Amino acid sequence: MRELLRRASVPARRLFLTRVLRNASLAVLGLAGGGLAVKRRRLLREGKCLNQGMCRDCGVFDDCGLPRALSTRSVLARTRYGQ
Ligand code: SF4
Repeated sequence: MRELLRRASVPARRLFLTRVLRNASLAVLGLAGGGLAVKRRRLLREGKCLNQGMCRDCGVFDDCGLPRALSTRSVLARTRYGQ
């Protein structure tokens, strides 16, 4: 590998290093995103709220099964449809 890099021209080395850094950053971003998704799922499974109880602004409101979200959905349904 080292011999291959030494023989390569400067632009080719630069391109190689740029691609390596780009792919490494994409991998890190992917791992961070996956880690966050796993953490959100784990917290919801454990019954912990992700958004400090502010259900209307929460990204998982439609799928959330926590009591506060169920209550908020019930209130919204009653106020929207006059039940
Ligand atoms: S929808 Fe409501 S209860 Fe569920 S995680 Fe979001 S804020 Fe918490």
